[in-house]
Amino acid sequence: MINLILFGPPGSGKGTQAAKLVEQFQLIHISTGDLFRYEMSHNTPLGEQAKAYMAKGELVPDSVTIGMLRNKVESHPDAAGFIFDGFPRTIPQAQALDELLEEKGTRVTGLFALHVDDEEIVQRIKLRGLSSGRADDNNESIIRNRINVYKNETSPVFDYYAEQGKSQSINGIGEIEEIFERLSEAIAQLH
Ligand code: ADP
Repeated sequence: MINLILFGPPGSGKGTQAAKLVEQFQLIHISTGDLFRYEMSHNTPLGEQAKAYMAKGELVPDSVTIGMLRNKVESHPDAAGFIFDGFPRTIPQAQALDELLEEKGTRVTGLFALHVDDEEIVQRIKLRGLSSGRADDNNESIIRNRINVYKNETSPVFDYYAEQGKSQSINGIGEIEEIFERLSEAIAQLH
């Protein structure tokens, strides 16, 4: 199995690149942000739990997020592998992912962090907000809060996997195709 983590701040292009990687490598794409938005749009109890945190740009509690992720992974017993997008976002989430994959006799293959500076992120998310309909994309102070949460709570996950020799940084500035090339090349080195 190949299990990739697409890492990086909000608006760094994880979702865009994940969609392209899925085509190339036939992996299952799991975006926890998309899963929460699906639950919210269907007014499920899980959606209700996530709503207030997402609206403020805070992280949904680990217990909720980890349970949802586990269910999703277990619903694809025959997958050739996964692309995790927006997960893990905390060290406990990373530990839970490692445990889950170990139970399945596999592991994280590599983590790729897309690097984009703060001002570019704010501009990209505001632009996305014009069409995404996401409340958290339409307010600059919420966008900046998400960037801070990324720095404080999420960026340690890069170091966690770096200790396992699995983390790599990718320049996330440029054309979508160009960034995809950088990622594909880095992934090809894994084999
Ligand atoms: P972005 O990467 O642009 O911030 P996402 O769709 O990945 O967008 O996430 C949107 C929101 O969903 C986050 O701000 C957070 O509230 C919630 N969320 C997504 N993934 C996680 C996670 N792994 N842990 C906790 N909260 C999450």
